[in-house]
Formats: sequence, structure tokens, C-alpha cells
Amino acid sequence: MTEDIEIYNFLRSASCCCICCLRYLKGRTDDFISVQSALDKRGICLDDTSTNDEKQAKKMRLSNCVACLGLLEPHFIETLIEQIRSSDKLREYDCEGFTTSVSLPIALQVRQLSLWLSLLERFPSRFNSCSVPDVSVKDAFKMILNRKLGEVLERVFSPTGIMINVFISYANEEVELLLLQKIKPEVFVDRKAKKHCRKEFITRNAFEKNFTPDNVSLAQYRQHIAVPPTIQDQTIALEEVSFTGPTLFLAGRYNKITRELSQTPWVIDGKRKMANSVQEIMCSVVGPYFLVMEDSLIFSSSGREDVDVRCLGEGRPFVLEIQNAFKDYLTDSVALEMEKAIAKSKQISVKDLQLVAREELVHIKQGEENKQKFYRALCVLETAVTAEVLNALNIEEPFVIDQWTPLRVLHRRPLLSRPRTIYKVKAFAYQRNDRVLIVDVVTQAGTYIKELVHSDFGRTNPSFRSIIGQPIDIQALDVMAVHLDWPKRLTR
Ligand SMILES: [Zn+2]
Repeated sequence: MTEDIEIYNFLRSASCCCICCLRYLKGRTDDFISVQSALDKRGICLDDTSTNDEKQAKKMRLSNCVACLGLLEPHFIETLIEQIRSSDKLREYDCEGFTTSVSLPIALQVRQLSLWLSLLERFPSRFNSCSVPDVSVKDAFKMILNRKLGEVLERVFSPTGIMINVFISYANEEVELLLLQKIKPEVFVDRKAKKHCRKEFITRNAFEKNFTPDNVSLAQYRQHIAVPPTIQDQTIALEEVSFTGPTLFLAGRYNKITRELSQTPWVIDGKRKMANSVQEIMCSVVGPYFLVMEDSLIFSSSGREDVDVRCLGEGRPFVLEIQNAFKDYLTDSVALEMEKAIAKSKQISVKDLQLVAREELVHIKQGEENKQKFYRALCVLETAVTAEVLNALNIEEPFVIDQWTPLRVLHRRPLLSRPRTIYKVKAFAYQRNDRVLIVDVVTQAGTYIKELVHSDFGRTNPSFRSIIGQPIDIQALDVMAVHLDWPKRLTR
């Protein structure tokens, strides 16, 4: 406790603001908001016996804290918050949550290191060079800003909310960084050598790596830079506030009930082969709700089916990535409306529409290789179906086939041979045509079903053709199930 007071007095004498002092006394968000009670709690009282002149002088110094250069000044933060609150841009976003991104001058870190070194010298039993002594200026600033913004904007702090970007500049930045260059010239970018002349000639990363109490001695630092830092006339300034909409992930399952629709836009040599696609039907409904361009949405799914293959049963899991959205929520009733609007296409329908976290996308990637798929194929023989054929295509035990890249996709896929497991095959006769049979087949994801049936000139082996010992062709194919328990099923 007594040491807290000593540290406080030392930092105040070096012209640190009260909040910066509290940063070195293990301050928390509440302390930075209610400074007076935080000081009381630590037995520190502001000296009120000073004369008016002294008070005036102190006030001057306070507004120019050597550590934060005025960043943590309540007035500065209030002004910033008011600018954010009254921004027309902010009103364009209909977001329940917000998050902040803050860009600060590196000079603040230079000053932080200077204070750190002087505390190490002064209070060796309390501070050591291996552990960070304080709550950083940036963290303290964000703690105060986020708490107050939450109250003023009446929004919750959330990583998936609107991003408020705050850029803070400092007129003396370059002058102060140039002093650093004298200590370690090798970590600075030679701007003469680099023609494009970047504004940053030391990156934040390079600073943080090369300037720590561990690898810069007090003597080295003190030669060129004041320890503790000196008072500046210049304060930091608010350069810019901008807004970025959240990136959202909308997941669901789709059914495709037509044999004339590609999954993604089908374009060959710049010409469209088909007017629409699964992706475009979805995006035309989802895009307008989040106020983004339809073609800016990124579609991915657990596998894909060919243009002429329907996708029935529980449907295929998919996800749409929506960047820079203007909304960050989706109510059940809106999700239902979207599902209805998509169903009006009469080509696809979707269900289980929901926003998911970015981390959940691993499920859709895992699904591609490992999961089982259940297909139903309509096959035709050159002669009538016999009991022997049906028996041969009634296989309960899993078996492995060797499948070369099909001729029909060789123009866009590399030539290679892959083993694929077939888990189950079951054939049924078709009453209305004695040459036709229906075959249900459960396979490992990534199996080419058409080739499994007709063998692709022997490039898939074994195949239904080799198993029954006669030509067989496939007329139509349906995906019956994609065994992936993601996203979660909804009952609405
Ligand atoms: Zn300060």
C-alpha cells in the first residue's frame, strides 16, 4: 500500500495523468472509469492544499500526460464518443453489437518503455524486466472506450458487431521515432533505398520485438531518449473514425429439386451455360436483407452435385460468408421468410437457416472427405433385369474401389487414382420397365457415382458393370443424404 503511494507520487511528479498512474497500480476497467474511488481505495489522496497557481499549473500538466499524451483525458474520450454517436455513417448500420479497433502512434510505446525503464530503476523490488508492469495505454483506452460506448450507443460489445475504427495521430511521431533510430539503426527501413518511401519506417512489430526492457539497457536508452519521458506541447489528435460492417456466416441445408440447375454459376469461355444456380437463388434473397451486393457473398458447401443431379432428403449443408454486412442479427421470423422466398424459385429450398460463428466452419471442411453420402441411381441395362443382377448388386459389406479422375472432369481436375470406400449397395427392380433398376448406394464422400456405375471405360474398378458382367448405364441420380450433423437442426 505504501509502495503504491510512492509509485503514484513518482509517476505524478513525472507528469503522468491519474489514469496512467492507475495503469501501473493494477487498475481495472472500473478504476479507470471511477478514478477518485480507485485512488481512495489505494489510500491515495490528491493534494488539495496547493495554491490556485499551482493548481493551474497542474491542470496544464494533466492535459499533457507524458505517458498517454492526452489520450486518456476524459474530455478527449467524451469528444470522440460524441463524434461516433452523431455520425451519419453509423446510422447506416443496423447492428446490435459493436467492437472497436484502435490505431495509436508508436510514440506512445516509446514513452511507455521509457517509463518502464525508470520504474525498474526506481522500484526494483516491485517491477522486473520479464513481466509487463502495466495495463498498456491501448488496453486502458479500449476498456474505457468500450464501456462508455456500450452505454451511449445502447449496444453490446461483440466481436461480430459493427467495427468502429479509431485512428489517432501524433504530430511529433516522426521526430520521436528518429531518436529511436539512433539506438538500433538496423531495425529501421532505409527509406532512401526503398523508392516507394513508406510512411512507416519502423513497423509496430519491429518496435515491439526490438525495444523491450530485456534487450535495451537503461543506459543505452537514456543516451538518446528522456527517461522518464518529457512533457510535450503536442498532444495526440483524432485523425479519423470509420466503420466496417461485420463478417457473418449464414449456414443451412438445401434441397435441389430440379435436374437443370448448377450449384454455382456455370460459365464456359465467358458464356453462361445456365441462367441461374443454387448459389445465385440463395444470394438474391440473402444479399438484400444484409444490404450487401448479391455477388459479394461467398458460397461453400459440403460437397456438390452435378447439374442433372437432384439433392433430396435432409439436404446439403452450406454456408454463405457475408462481408461488411449492415446488420448483425437474424430473427427466426426473418429466417423463415427467407426460406419461403427461396422456395418460390421452385428449383431449390433451404432449411435450418442460421448465423454461425467462424469457428464452426471447420465442420463443413471436415465433411468433404470423411463423411458418408447416400445416393439413389436410376440405371438401365441392355437386356431385362434378372434375379442374378439384383443379387450381385445387393452388397452389405463395405468394399474399396480404385477410381481414376473421370474423363468428363479431366479438363479441370488433375489425373490421379484414388481409393474410395463403398459401404452398401442395394438394387431394386423397376415395375414399369424391365430393363431399369433403382440402386441405393452409400459411399465415402468424393466418390464419382456415374463412373461407379458404368466404369468409365474401366477407369473405375470394380464398378457395377464389372460386378454384373454386362453394360449398365445411369439415367438419373439423386443425393438422398449427406451425413453431416451440422449446422444444428432447427424446429421452427
Ligand atoms: Zn496519461
